[in-house]
Amino acid sequence: MRELNLLRANHLEWRERPDPVLTGPRDAIVRPFVAGRCDGDTLPIHRHVSRPMQLGIRTGLIDPVVAGICGPVPFQGPFAIGHECIAEVLEIGPDVTGLTRGDFVVVPWAVSCGDCPECTRGLTAKCSTTRAGTLAAFGFGPASGPWGGMIADRLRIPYADHMLVRLPDGLDPLRVAAASDNLADAWRCIVAPLTRQPGGSVLVLGGAAQSIGLYAAGLATAHGAEIVDYVDHRPERLAIAEKLGARAHPVKKGKLRRADLPSRRYDIVVEGTSTGAGVDVGLRALQPGGICTPVGYYLPPGTKVPLMHMYANDATLKIGVSHVRPVLPELLDFVARTGFPAEHVTTVLADWDDAPDAYRAHTTKLVLQRPPLGVA
Ligand SMILES: [Zn+2]
Ligand SMILES: [Zn+2]
Repeated sequence: MRELNLLRANHLEWRERPDPVLTGPRDAIVRPFVAGRCDGDTLPIHRHVSRPMQLGIRTGLIDPVVAGICGPVPFQGPFAIGHECIAEVLEIGPDVTGLTRGDFVVVPWAVSCGDCPECTRGLTAKCSTTRAGTLAAFGFGPASGPWGGMIADRLRIPYADHMLVRLPDGLDPLRVAAASDNLADAWRCIVAPLTRQPGGSVLVLGGAAQSIGLYAAGLATAHGAEIVDYVDHRPERLAIAEKLGARAHPVKKGKLRRADLPSRRYDIVVEGTSTGAGVDVGLRALQPGGICTPVGYYLPPGTKVPLMHMYANDATLKIGVSHVRPVLPELLDFVARTGFPAEHVTTVLADWDDAPDAYRAHTTKLVLQRPPLGVA
């Protein structure tokens, strides 16, 4: 079967590998037919980061945990990339009871069992059954397990009844192309804090987490935030934020300063610039009791956090990998029920066969599609 591999920056190609087969009674085999490009994938696609990151880990400029996720030479090609997809169920093992051949399902980016102590607490991205190292995930290379990338003809899914979440009837798969990761990541930043504080004000610092920031801005307006301010340097994303009901605040590209932001304070801040400066100004922009969730990669071990400011203002910094599986049922139901137009964030919709070229596009959100087989 065919699987998209990243060879090195700006070079991707289809590679052949043996078809995955059912190996246990709780497995399923699925065929992805819609795939989103995670914001994080643009790092190794657009920049020659492999050797510099290897050197950075060795010399202490990059946190060693990165090697646990991506290996001692991070993003070393070739490896199978991609970890957002909607797939069609092709085969199920004899113990799978909740799925049928032909079902359309979301496959979460992290592989989890559903039964271990971590999964039971909702920390599915830290599942202790599936994890050999820091994470068990699709599309990050062999250090995160043998699962392969999602831009492939077939995937083997363990613990399929737990892992796979069926799309509600009538929900357009293109609308939730990023539910495996970026859309669910935005959901956890916004929905729980807004539930605790209905009508709260929201600031999104956009940029590196290109689509997460936009999904967050849209979800905030859709969940009744009183104010949603979206800050970014790129006109394309500012326009999408406005379309989703946020107020767009253009800033110059470069290090973010508090003076660049609107002068008010916020109950909820989503930090998507992937910079220490973003974390700092995000925390300083909080109202007393506010919460800031950074969603980028913060590679250096010494990112500064303004603890005294946080102490004086009762600020919460919530940081961690996104546990997608537990939020998916509620997220998918919300999108199906309200018609939340998540597809407005998609800036390039490409044909699946064109993935090697399309996946390196310099664009906010790439989505690949091909027709499902219709095996039901
Ligand atoms: Zn991701
Ligand atoms: Zn588990």
